[in-house]
This record gives sequence, structure tokens and C-alpha cells, in this order.
Amino acid sequence: MMSITAEEALDAYEAARHRLPASAPKTDVFQRVGALSDIANRFDVFLLDAFGVLNVGETVIPGVPDSVTELQNAGKRVLVVSNAASVGTDELLKKYTALGYDFARDDIVTSRETLSSKMNGNRDSRWGVVAPASADLADLGLSHAELLADDPAPYEACDSILLIGTGDWTHARQDLLETALRQRSKPVLVANPDIVAPRETGFSVEPGHIAHRLADVADVEPEFYGKPFANIFDMVFDRLGDVDRTRVVMVGDSLHTDILGARAYGIASALVPGFGFFAGGNVEQAIERTGITPDYLVERP
Ligand SMILES: [Mg+2]
Repeated sequence: MMSITAEEALDAYEAARHRLPASAPKTDVFQRVGALSDIANRFDVFLLDAFGVLNVGETVIPGVPDSVTELQNAGKRVLVVSNAASVGTDELLKKYTALGYDFARDDIVTSRETLSSKMNGNRDSRWGVVAPASADLADLGLSHAELLADDPAPYEACDSILLIGTGDWTHARQDLLETALRQRSKPVLVANPDIVAPRETGFSVEPGHIAHRLADVADVEPEFYGKPFANIFDMVFDRLGDVDRTRVVMVGDSLHTDILGARAYGIASALVPGFGFFAGGNVEQAIERTGITPDYLVERP
């Protein structure tokens, strides 16, 4: 697993700000609350990020399944809105059920689904795919897809690049990809714009990191699917149907994906700093530095 520190991740997100949506004007104040139940009267719909809110790696954050059940029992609509791309929604539903959450399949909206819904007409391209060897790509319906691994040939032969997951990615493979794209530019589609994800032992490098590197060194403009981009929020609101947008809140642990995405889309946001990106870090300093201000700072979900 390629890994990175929180400080490096914040620097990397800031260096990539010109490729992210513009944030709404800076607001200097956020309100501190103890738990999501404290703002339950303000909202009808809670959009919950997964990594850093529901779980860290494969481990549940203790107490959060009960908090989610409490919201659901109070009649709130609770959706998982995740930049999860490595596995399909059925697998994710199994994962969250095993962790103690009671979600339906329709309650989960992912960046992978967002990408898949926009792939019409592109599925017949010769895809070179960055994904773990174990990845199941069946739901994406690609006619020609080859995993990019240690053999240089597919890097040159493919016509489009799809970044799904970095579980098996290495510096050597990154070099192969950068070399191939310097020789011939190709469309690069990114199924997870995250630069990092919080794991049990630190931060893993995610597809967003690879995509921004490629854009920095080759003539490539990656197409990003997922938070902080509008495409995933469009899918969320298609799913929600007729709702009062002022009563929808995005809850997440990352300023540059969850909070920036919500602000750019014009919905409320709540940052949970205690378990994911900012666990042990200085969140106030990061808010000040980035100008990405949530409406709420929530001590625990
Ligand atoms: Mg997260």
C-alpha cells in the first residue's frame, strides 16, 4: 500500500485546488455541536460520508451504527455518499451491514455508480484499468478492459485510462503510466477523486492522487467522478426526488471532498474531525488555511 501523511495530503489537495470546484464565499464561523442528533431538528436528509464517518478502513467507528439508527427512527432519510470505487454497491451494502448499519441498497450513492452512469458510449474503448487484481469490474460493462500492472505493453496499447483503486499500485507502475501518457495523451477517468483514505494504520494513497500527478506531468485533463464534484450530488438529488435542499446536510471528515463539495453545490455541511482525515490533527488551522468552512463541527457522528 502506498501511504502518505495527513500534512502531505492537505498540501496535495491545496496544490490541486485549481482542478476542484470553486468554494462558495468564505464564512468565518462554524457552529460546534456534540453529535448529529444535536442538529437533527435542522435537517430532513443526512448524507453521510463513509471513510472517517461510518468506518476507518474495515473497522466500524464505535457508536455510529446506533446514531444512524436513531436518525432513521426519527424519520430522517440517511444516505451514504461515498467516493468508494474499488467495489460495487452490492459489496458495499454487505460491508456496512456486517459493520452493524441498516441501509438499503438505494441508500448508497457512490462515485463508481456516478462514473458508470456517465460511461454510455465509452464502454467499447480499450480501457487500461488501475484497480487491484481482485477487483470485479463486471458492473461497469466494459467490452475491453485490461488491468495495468507490471507489463508495460497494456499501458501503451490502451486508448483510455480508468482509475478505480490503488490497492496494488506501486511507484514503478506510476512511472509506467506517466511514461505512456507523456508519449500519447489519453482520456483519464477517475472513479474516486480522493487523494487519501484513512486506514487503521495511516492514510492510503487513492486514485485522485494518481490523477493529479498525471495532470501535473503529462498533457492530461482527468475527468473526476465523485465528491467534491457536482456529478455525484446530482445523482444524490435524483435519488432523493423532491426535497427541500435547505434541509439536506453533507457530513464528512474531509474539507476538500465532503465540505467543499457541499459548499460548491449549495447545501449545508458538517465536518467530523475526530476519526478520519483530521484525527489527531489541527482542524481549525486547516479551515483557516483552506478557507473551506463547514456549517458545523461535530464532535462525533
Ligand atoms: Mg471520508
